[in-house]
Amino acid sequence: MIAAFGGTFDPVHFGHLRVAADTAHALRLPEVRLIPAQTPVHRGAPGASAAQRLAMLHLAVADWPGLTVDARELERDTPSYTVLTLESLRAEHPGTPILWLIGIDAFLGLPTWRDWTRLFDLAHFVVLNRPGTPMAQALDARRAAWALPRLTQRADDLRRAPAGRIHLHTVAPQPVSASAIRGRLAAGASDDELRQLLPPSVLAYIRSNRLYLA
Ligand code: ATP
Repeated sequence: MIAAFGGTFDPVHFGHLRVAADTAHALRLPEVRLIPAQTPVHRGAPGASAAQRLAMLHLAVADWPGLTVDARELERDTPSYTVLTLESLRAEHPGTPILWLIGIDAFLGLPTWRDWTRLFDLAHFVVLNRPGTPMAQALDARRAAWALPRLTQRADDLRRAPAGRIHLHTVAPQPVSASAIRGRLAAGASDDELRQLLPPSVLAYIRSNRLYLA
């Protein structure tokens, strides 16, 4: 099985790392690839450059066995459409189950993604709980028509087909977000506080590159 977790990672934090590692363990995945996206120009500043976000991911995964970094979206000259990323993974791994890990907050926006119905031809979706968004919303009336028929709570079903299922996976809740971290950095938070939220190597990189200051 191939497993991928896309995001902006601006910056990568313990929320990302813990939910990815937990899922790898629970679903017996040899590896979860963290795939940083290009950021749209309209995304709120201040942020880090693509090269800086990538560097922070490499620093972070060094301490997390089973987590790796895949920079294909940054190497591409087109916007970060997940459908293109999944097509390129699929071309490399025909017939292999591909799992796309996604937080419940992001999953709710799926119908706004480019070619979103095609996503299920390319991968399974593993939906992860996140504080602030009830997991039940994954299957509520607005999503039932397309989400319920794809739902499986048997993890083995993800191995039986290359794509097409939705699996809800509950992890220990991680009340952390990149936007909150950027806010704390801009507000002058101490290293002691920030070390609760992201790895020391990432914090040191942020400090030495003077990132996310107001
Ligand atoms: P921001 O606060 O800037 O929006 P973020 O913390 O949500 O950033 P992203 O890189 O945008 O981080 O998220 C990438 C993926 O990780 C998304 O699928 C998101 O739902 C998931 N994710 C991020 N933080 C958590 C968390 N604390 N618990 C569960 N999933 C998370």
